[in-house]
Amino acid sequence: MAVPTPAPRALEFARTLVGFNTVSANSNLALIHCIRDELARLGVKSRLSYNAERTKANLFATLGEGKPAGIILSGHTDTVPWDGQDWSVDPLGAVVRDGRLYGRGSADMKGFIATAVAHAERFLNSKAPFAIHLAFSYEEEIGCFGVKELIADMREAGIAPLACIVGEPTSMVPAIAHKGVYRYRCCVRGKEAHSSLTPHSVNAIELAARVVGRVRDMAEGFEREEPRYEGFDVPFSTASVGQFHGGIADNVVPRDAEFRYEFRDLPTADARRMQEQVVAYARSLEPAMQQVAPDTGFRFETICEIPSFLGSAEDDVTRLAMRLAGEQRTTQVAFGTEAGLFKNAGIRTVVCGPGSIAQAHQPDEYVSLEQLARCQAFMEGLAEVRSLA
Ligand SMILES: [Zn+2]
Repeated sequence: MAVPTPAPRALEFARTLVGFNTVSANSNLALIHCIRDELARLGVKSRLSYNAERTKANLFATLGEGKPAGIILSGHTDTVPWDGQDWSVDPLGAVVRDGRLYGRGSADMKGFIATAVAHAERFLNSKAPFAIHLAFSYEEEIGCFGVKELIADMREAGIAPLACIVGEPTSMVPAIAHKGVYRYRCCVRGKEAHSSLTPHSVNAIELAARVVGRVRDMAEGFEREEPRYEGFDVPFSTASVGQFHGGIADNVVPRDAEFRYEFRDLPTADARRMQEQVVAYARSLEPAMQQVAPDTGFRFETICEIPSFLGSAEDDVTRLAMRLAGEQRTTQVAFGTEAGLFKNAGIRTVVCGPGSIAQAHQPDEYVSLEQLARCQAFMEGLAEVRSLA
């Protein structure tokens, strides 16, 4: 049997989107304007919501104006960079070879976005009793910052969708859970001194190390005691320190140190509570530090907070995704997505999109044409849906 392939127009649009360099640090406006113009040809107006500098935008569009709010197709437009990676093709070249579309973002997640946009006309002409919404965000890869603006903008416009399908690469198997990702930076201010005079100093590295040790103790506690949540590669919450900086010379007690760490909490755990424990422990060290020098202490910054996601195999949107994808099963994924943010906004959500996370963020990232064709069949089915139940 021949392997199914996507419609030429959808594939061409995916190639166009891959061609835009939308690494998270860059502007995504050229790509957003391209999608806006594509939708405008069909008479569809896009809502753009911008970052503070107006260098990046989310796009939200409703296909089926006048119908009750319906199902969101959600994707992020930014990609991770490819610096230092060994690519055999141009990351922006969108080469199609051996049944695959290669390029940064092809799987994560421009293939999905392009397939959704390519079906805009079908959604417009759909007899479904509800609208289809397109929701494309910026800065997902560095902390899901854009989608928070997008959800706020949607609320402001009075749009209350029934459900959301996040098209992250799950090989078109509906995913109903992932862990959260919470990252923090801790800056320690001590008091410097010649290293022969330690009683007159506050050693920032040593104090930072105590808090690092605390994070480690918590990680061991999760492994030892946390109720297991089967289906994840690691079925308990994890904590990890990723960076540590401090010190200027062997004979100077360091004034400054900083480290960065993360929690990946189970859907049944609470990373904010974990962070509160770290902060409380650091605060308990401050009185002794401040006896030596009053302006010493700890300062914490939030880098990102991506909530965990827990949907349900019983949700109508999950059952719909299973039916449209022709899948009997659901899965859980190891990576963070925007799904938890939609869910927390009161919108039933499932994660389902073409391509594999095994290829995302890798050199020679690709999405197979077979996966794009399956995504296309999914969209065609969605345009024929008569009710969500
Ligand atoms: Zn992604």
